[in-house]
Amino acid sequence: MTGPAEGGPPAGPTDTDWAAAVAAVRGLPATARVLLICHVNPDGDALGSMLGFGLGLRRLGVRQLQATFPGPPEVPEPFRWLPGSELLVAQDDAYPDPDLVICFDAASESRLGDLVGRLDKAGAALVLDHHASNTGFGTIQLVDPHAAATSVVALGLLDRLEVALDAEIAAGLYVALSTDTGSFRFEATTPAVHEMAARLLATGIRPGEISRQVFDTRPFGAVRLFGEVMGRARLEPAAAAGRGLVWTYATREDLARHDQPAYVLEALIDSVRCTAEADVSCVVKQSGDAEWAVSLRSKGAVDVSRVAMALGGGGHRFAAGFTGRGAVDEVVERIRVELPGALLAA
Ligand code: AMP
Ligand code: MN
Ligand code: MN
Repeated sequence: MTGPAEGGPPAGPTDTDWAAAVAAVRGLPATARVLLICHVNPDGDALGSMLGFGLGLRRLGVRQLQATFPGPPEVPEPFRWLPGSELLVAQDDAYPDPDLVICFDAASESRLGDLVGRLDKAGAALVLDHHASNTGFGTIQLVDPHAAATSVVALGLLDRLEVALDAEIAAGLYVALSTDTGSFRFEATTPAVHEMAARLLATGIRPGEISRQVFDTRPFGAVRLFGEVMGRARLEPAAAAGRGLVWTYATREDLARHDQPAYVLEALIDSVRCTAEADVSCVVKQSGDAEWAVSLRSKGAVDVSRVAMALGGGGHRFAAGFTGRGAVDEVVERIRVELPGALLAA
């Protein structure tokens, strides 16, 4: 399968792509070293797909197996309980020249940070993803833009490898599916999504317990921090040709004052995007001296992936992001400028 270089999104894996992926795994010698990599600042889909799939490889007898992601080896607290976490190593400890690399939920090589060199050193690089903006990197691509999460693709491959689902594998795949569908609320929540969730739940995993850990638990310091950051949100009804923009920002200073790690800010966008008067919502999170991780969401009037791609990032139509540089106001101004050109036909 080819990437979207000619303009259109990838059509989804063909039978040939699936067969190549199955052969790449089945053909591994007993001594093979396999390295799993997910995207920087890993979310539920990145970690859940990677660790769930990793446990599947274990069941197939892959002995030398590591999982990693770029940046500091800190797993966000809501995901630390995930089965398969014992596969995780810091990026510097990852096999320098693995026989097979498998990438999860990364739309482009830039999302793999310092680990991108492992792809060239590896015997083969298998890419599992669901971003329409996927650039087509790697030697074998399983990229399905219609999949609600990368874990849908991961389960598709586990099924073809005839790995039996168990509760440990299912936990990661369920976290991935429930986070990327916003707890089965987003448009991507098709009958197939619920059918997959039913298969995962049938292994005995506990959805109430998982949701509480993943969505509904945060330290009191984060609750207070959210209050402050929400309090400074701005509503711009005229932005995006009148569809409206709501945005806020959080600095490293804010995090330090409340003694919180950066990942607690990932949940903020869900509070901001509730705003009735705005189609587009945005949270600008400081990640360096003059560097910001920007989250964008749309309710349907705007293709925010177009905005994000114009500013060097990527994502999905209604959930995208990019790295912004300069002052907060400059970053937001660049978004304002891109919004009218990203309107979708009514
Ligand atoms: P987030 O707002 O971080 O939850 O990300 C929303 C979507 O945008 C996800 O699908 C990400 O893969 C994508 N995304 C976020 N940040 C970036 C970035 N810097 N470059 C490319 N894609 C991104
Ligand atoms: Mn992701
Ligand atoms: Mn995803």
